[in-house]
Amino acid sequence: MITDLIRKNILQLKPYSAARDEFKGTAQVFLDANENPYDTAYNRYPDPLQVKLKESIAHLKGVKALEIFLGNGSDEAIDLLIRAFCEPNQDTILITEPTYGMYSVCAGVNSVAVVSAPLTPDFEIDLPLVLSSITFTTKIIFLCSPNNPSGNLLDKGKIEHIIKHFHGLVVIDEAYIDFANDLGFAPSLSQYSNLVILQTLSKAWGLAGLRLGMCFASEELIQVLTKIKYPYNINTVTQELTYASLMNTEKKDAWIAEILTEREKLQQALLSIKSVIKVYPSDANFLLVKMVNAKSTYHNLMKKGIVVRDRSSITQCEDCLRITIGTPNENQTLIEALKNL
Ligand SMILES: *Cc1c(COP(=O)(O)O)cnc(C)c1O
Repeated sequence: MITDLIRKNILQLKPYSAARDEFKGTAQVFLDANENPYDTAYNRYPDPLQVKLKESIAHLKGVKALEIFLGNGSDEAIDLLIRAFCEPNQDTILITEPTYGMYSVCAGVNSVAVVSAPLTPDFEIDLPLVLSSITFTTKIIFLCSPNNPSGNLLDKGKIEHIIKHFHGLVVIDEAYIDFANDLGFAPSLSQYSNLVILQTLSKAWGLAGLRLGMCFASEELIQVLTKIKYPYNINTVTQELTYASLMNTEKKDAWIAEILTEREKLQQALLSIKSVIKVYPSDANFLLVKMVNAKSTYHNLMKKGIVVRDRSSITQCEDCLRITIGTPNENQTLIEALKNL
């Protein structure tokens, strides 16, 4: 049982019960939450369980509403998963570097040690290394697919092997899955009780400023995250605007198509530039690019008002820049600048 892995104090915890949690019917007069009664559009607390928004996301993603946790960005789910499962100064998480930095930051905040089983030089899972790095303290394995900062989808067969053979949680961060020619693991959710999937509205959906992260997992696990979250973690504006934006699938799909076309063009254009050594294959909305000298290119671009991400100090990413795919104009500006450096 996945609940056997949860920290004892979390299992025993009685959650804060918000006024709007306790009352479930319909009413005319709300005198239960000490709100200001005068209508400002935002004088009422938001729905703590985000019922309407979750139903819409469930429909869109083909999962049950009870299998969804919504967070203030995916980062909230990463933090809560570590807090729910990892005993501080005792349990550990496993990551496959180079990868997204928040897993280590959230672990560090919670006094949970991080073990790394680095990806191979072509950014694939080193399966024997991952399996041999698992110990009795390993509670969560974080896999990012498509991976940030390398951009590639990780091998599905290897991920499945890890899910089947590891008794703790396997968290697959699919922040960039909308840009990949792959459905990811959401369709397999019901097959595995230890599988957790993270997605977000921050990338393909163009809503980074609203902060809405999605976590898909078994109902039992979602109940635990829901129990320990802040009661009103998703504000009214975010709930309303994201609900409305989810109707815009056509617009989102058009953006993705445009970004994929631009990714192809930018990749070709970069290869024609002298200071570019290699452009890694990408299933995401960015490219990892190996330069002759990433640091100096980074600073020179900055002087021209162009900001890219310097990843040169990261494991396996020596002299690499991570470049987000912009509009056709922005990408052209970048290429011109690189040509003139
Ligand atoms: C951008 C990103 C996220 C962050 O998502 P938010 O929902 O904006 O917090 C999560 N994981 C990875 C790998 C990312 O690159």
